[in-house]
Order: sequence, then C-alpha cells, then structure tokens
Amino acid sequence: MSNANINNITTSAVRAGINTDKHHGAVVAPIHLSSTYSLKGFNEKREFDYSRTGNPTRALFAQAIADLEQGSVGIVTSTGMSSVHLICQLLSVEDLVVIPHDCYGGSFRLFTHLAKRGLFKLIVVDQNDQNALAQALAQKPKLVLLESPSNPLLRLVDIEEVTKACHKVGALVAVDNTFLSPALQQPLTLGADIVFHSTTKYINGHSDVVGGVLVTKEQELGEELAWWANCIGITGSAFDSFLALRGLKTLPVRIKQHQKNAEQVAAFLKGHPAIDAVYYPGFEDHPGHDIAKKQQAGFGAMLSFDVKGGVEAVKKLFANLTLFTLAQSLGGVESLINHPPTMTHAGMEEAARLEAGITDSLVRISVGIEDIADILADLAHGLEQSQKA
Ligand SMILES: *Cc1c(COP(=O)(O)O)cnc(C)c1O
Repeated sequence: MSNANINNITTSAVRAGINTDKHHGAVVAPIHLSSTYSLKGFNEKREFDYSRTGNPTRALFAQAIADLEQGSVGIVTSTGMSSVHLICQLLSVEDLVVIPHDCYGGSFRLFTHLAKRGLFKLIVVDQNDQNALAQALAQKPKLVLLESPSNPLLRLVDIEEVTKACHKVGALVAVDNTFLSPALQQPLTLGADIVFHSTTKYINGHSDVVGGVLVTKEQELGEELAWWANCIGITGSAFDSFLALRGLKTLPVRIKQHQKNAEQVAAFLKGHPAIDAVYYPGFEDHPGHDIAKKQQAGFGAMLSFDVKGGVEAVKKLFANLTLFTLAQSLGGVESLINHPPTMTHAGMEEAARLEAGITDSLVRISVGIEDIADILADLAHGLEQSQKA
C-alpha cells in the first residue's frame, strides 16, 4: 500500500477551514448563505459577488478537496452527476469518449444518452481487456473515463498505466474516485487530469448531503471547468458545502473503521455456503489485488457477492436483515445493502448489464462503522434464511 500518506491526510482533513474566519475568530468556518455580495464601490468588486459564481463556504470545501487530491482547482457541484456532466462540457460533436462498460449506472446513462443525441461519439469498453482498450485508444479519443474500483464489481484498472497510454494519444483522463475517496487513492498523483467524486458517499459520509466535487491537475483546465460550472449553474449550495466540509474532517478516521469492518465481512462471506462468489479487492485471488496494493492505501469498504438461489434468495436475504438497510447509496456511517440490477444499475439496459457481469443474484454492500459483531450477526441470520424453502 504505497500511494497515499494516510497520516498527513488525517491532519489536513481535520484542519480544513479551521481558523479561517477573519471577522470573529470563529474556529469552525462559518456558513455563508447570502446569495449576493455588495460591491465596495462603483465597479469595485470584492472576492465574491454572487453565490452561483463563488461562495466563501463552498470555496473552502473545494480547496480542502483539491489539497487532499493534490490538484490545482477544486469545483464543488450540486451532485456527483453534475460533476460528470460538467466534464461533458469539454466535448464537441466530433470528439470521441471512451467509458468503462461497468461504470456507475448514472454515468453510463448520461454518456450513452448524450451520445445518442449526437453530442459526441462514444465507445463503451471493458478496460481490463487490453486489446479492446488499445483499439479504442487507437481512435484517438478526447476523453477517457476511468472508475477504479468499479461499481458494483470492484474491478480495478491500473490508473498509471492506462493514463500513460491515454496521454500518448492525446486523451484527457478523468477518474471517478467515489468508491475510495482521497484518503485511499489520489488519481492525480498517478497522472490523471481530472478526479471527481460523489461527495454524497464517503466524503460527506453521513447520508445527509447529495453533492459532487471535481479537481483538476492543471490550473488552466480547472479554470475552464469552473467557468462552465458557473455558466450552466451547477455549483453546490453553501449549506451542503458546510455539511460536507464537516463530514470531511472525520473521513480518514471513518475510512479506517470502515475498512477494518469490511475486511472481516469479506472473510466471513468467503466460503459461506449461501454464497457463490465474493468480489473484494483485498483477497489475494482477486484479479485486481496487486493493482490495488500498488495504487491504493487500503482496499476500501465496498464489496459485492452473488447469493446462491438467484433473485428469490436475494429477496429472502433482504427480508431477514435488520441492521443493514436496503437502500441506494454508499459510504455513510451506517451499513447499506443494495441490489444493483433493480436499483443503482436499473438505468442500464439488461443486455449491457449482464455483459458487465451484473447478474440478478448480485448484492452490493457498503460496510458501515457499527460494531463488527452486530454486522456479522445480521448477515449470518439473513444468509441462513435466504437458503430456506
Ligand atoms: C453515487 C455515484 C455517482 C453519482 O453521484 P450523485 O451524488 O448520486 O449524483 C457517481 N459515481 C459513483 C461511483 C457513485 O457511487
């Protein structure tokens, strides 16, 4: 585990926004809800003039994430999807985009539907298939989207290697880092041009904000995207920024506990008689294990598994869980369970979904930070019931 220095991250996360208030010495950064800001005089602007364009609370949160990702410009957007949409502003009709076949369902839906309307050209590819990826890159894409680990099957791509190949053909690389957060992976340090997050997940971490953030390696690209974010009006609210900045402070500490629990859950599920397969990069026999060790500071706390007995067994499992909540989303302190085919990935057409390996018996869990004994007891009970006639 080499990439991130979790201790420095812990300090930067906790210190984000602390002691920045110049007026009253507020230790915690105040929340600025004002939509507009006065001019000092005729044509004499202050740092902020209108909150769509810039807001002090949002600016602090954006800078905090930019620092953690070691990038230049951070842009806070209203949702994770609006961060993805923001990247699309860089594209023209002649441009080609390459996306992974198993990316987040919402990203898949956005790119395929915009491409259908002719806004750009699109290739959907299995990025673990070296030939398919090389063929796609030979067509000189403008943008390549990466998501590692992928949702929901936790497939890994070597960000550094793929980025090198993309840069050779002049493509920009944007990485969805939602599943790990900057506490575990920093794609810009691996060469990527853009990293983005749904802050709804680990960064805020308390399932009470929907938001997004995007960070660029280069200042110029960041300024271009910030211009577009203001132009199309997708910047995040001051209140959400305040909450997400508060959540961020405990991100590294939460992640440690999430990971510790996930490791034990994975070990419990492996070889369990009610389970066909477990997808967890921490296993030595996981195809992405070595890549994870190289580019991540930990294996994360997301995992998925195939339940024996198909969708009927999945239904019984869900009906018999009390601690795990059946819900979309992930990365909050509470444990969540999800059925990708009918929930997060319902926006994908069935053929594409099955092609990506998302079967009807697949279940994804976001391991929370509750006591591990309670988490395991709940799963043990649910799985036992799932196999009963
Ligand atoms: C949730 C999620 C998104 C979309 O973010 P929203 O905040 O829901 O708009 C994008 N990518 C990944 C991997 C996600 O989990």
